[in-house]
Amino acid sequence: MHYDSIIIGAGLSGLTCALLLARSGRRVLVLEQHSRPAPVVRGFRRDGIYFDSGFHYAGGLGDGGPLQPLLRHLGLEDKLQLFPYAADGFDRLRVASSGEEYLLPVGFNNIRRYLGEKFPLARSEIALYLDEIVSQWRNFPYLDLNADLADFGMETVHGCSLRERLEVFSAWPELQSLLSMHSLLYGVPPEWAPLTLNAQVAGSYYHSVHGIVGGGRRLVDALLELLAEAGVDIRCNVAVSQVLVGEEAVSGVRLQSGDEFPAREVIATLNPTQLPGLLPASGLRPAYLKRLKNLRQTSSAYIVFASSRQSLEFLRGRNLFVQPRAGVFNLRADQPLEERSFYLAGADQGRDGAIRGLIGIVPAHYEEVSSWQTPEPGRPEGYAAWKTGISDRLLQMFKKRCPQLSELELLELATPLTLRDYSRAPEGAIYGVGRWLGQYNPQPATRLPGLFLSGQAVTAPGLLGTMVAGYLTCGTILGHEHLRGELRACR
Ligand SMILES: Cc1cc2nc3c(=O)[nH]c(=O)nc-3n(C[C@H](O)[C@H](O)[C@H](O)COP(=O)(O)OP(=O)(O)OC[C@H]3O[C@@H](n4cnc5c(N)ncnc54)[C@H](O)[C@@H]3O)c2cc1C
Repeated sequence: MHYDSIIIGAGLSGLTCALLLARSGRRVLVLEQHSRPAPVVRGFRRDGIYFDSGFHYAGGLGDGGPLQPLLRHLGLEDKLQLFPYAADGFDRLRVASSGEEYLLPVGFNNIRRYLGEKFPLARSEIALYLDEIVSQWRNFPYLDLNADLADFGMETVHGCSLRERLEVFSAWPELQSLLSMHSLLYGVPPEWAPLTLNAQVAGSYYHSVHGIVGGGRRLVDALLELLAEAGVDIRCNVAVSQVLVGEEAVSGVRLQSGDEFPAREVIATLNPTQLPGLLPASGLRPAYLKRLKNLRQTSSAYIVFASSRQSLEFLRGRNLFVQPRAGVFNLRADQPLEERSFYLAGADQGRDGAIRGLIGIVPAHYEEVSSWQTPEPGRPEGYAAWKTGISDRLLQMFKKRCPQLSELELLELATPLTLRDYSRAPEGAIYGVGRWLGQYNPQPATRLPGLFLSGQAVTAPGLLGTMVAGYLTCGTILGHEHLRGELRACR
């Protein structure tokens, strides 16, 4: 079979690209190193509970939300059943040192009102800050269908950091916590996170917040149904080891098995620091390859999956961020485990009935696990016992900070090694390459004809970031005006 386009990686970005290219009439093949498509988001079941692994909730899907036209255009809208998060507080913050709780209601005006009441002396500065978020959050290719695409990304290179912008609230450390806790959703510490990136990610949640009934698994299944209808071939358990380059352009890919697939386009959605290793020396300029290799990764994490005998009603339609002390959110894992900030979500919330599963995400450093890495699959002796020790400490911390979690039982712990194996992100970076202030993230087009990049590194993580990445890359191939025209008709 001869393919027009080969996509490396069956994550959300790769599957979005595959659908758009197949609908444009191309024969498309997706190659995935893992045993199943979309390993990061497909979740898993333990003890009769479905746990999401890489998708819990999404912003910008409500009425008039910028993701709606994309879902409609892809054909996902009719296949997914969304459910809204709690309007009076979709995300809450608990400051452990004081025991105080704060929340974020859904909607910019509601947030403005709530924060103004909680922090009356900061009211005018809060209004200015939120105005800035409102003016920036949709300023993203394919969310604003008229945005100038030429300069995309520059504001995240040269802008101001989230921490710098929040200095104005230094008399209200709880407010700083609330406005910076979403850095956990893009994995770049507030001192390095461009304000624009925070506006794009947090702003989408300020606008509207939804989950998907059936979670990430349903999202993946819906995409796979659409891809099957569009005639896309997907092969799993196949790692691409080389991008083949002909006279002057890409000519296909070689797999680790030695099999080759010719194609005139290759779209790489893998962690872009891995791409130089797949290219022949003559493929691209050394300076560009060096830039790709040196892109900074996002933080890593431990992810706890536990069951609870009590229903976790306090997490229904609400996530909980816990910080030991108030102040700008500390995403670095530079304190002992028990002193770190963390995030809690209830599992499988889209259905009626008790919430029996807990998902907890705690920032971690790769160095904490690097001594357990081996070149071969599998883990060395002693790793399981070490993991049990970490799990016990994490469960104790959750129980101490949240008395509602007194009846937890551990089912699984994902470590930075697990994250590395699922996505091949170096050092188990939770969202792959991040957008760090001062860093030029790659654009979809490369100087090698036929080679394109897509994925969260090109835009931002999350459903929003990866769908936009798919459109941005396919717009580069098919013509932005063509794709944007189709999306305008879906508004
Ligand atoms: C714990 C966690 C929680 C999250 N929560 C949310 C959330 O609540 N809401 C939200 O919107 N987003 C969330 N995200 C983010 C979201 O899951 C990611 O941004 C998204 O899945 C990234 O998609 P991608 O296609 O860009 O990258 P990936 O999913 O990493 O896709 C790249 C694919 O390439 C494959 N690959 C790599 N190398 C090769 C090779 N050589 N050959 C073949 N295949 C290869 C990898 O196996 C991988 O499947 C979360 C992520 C994590 C990890």
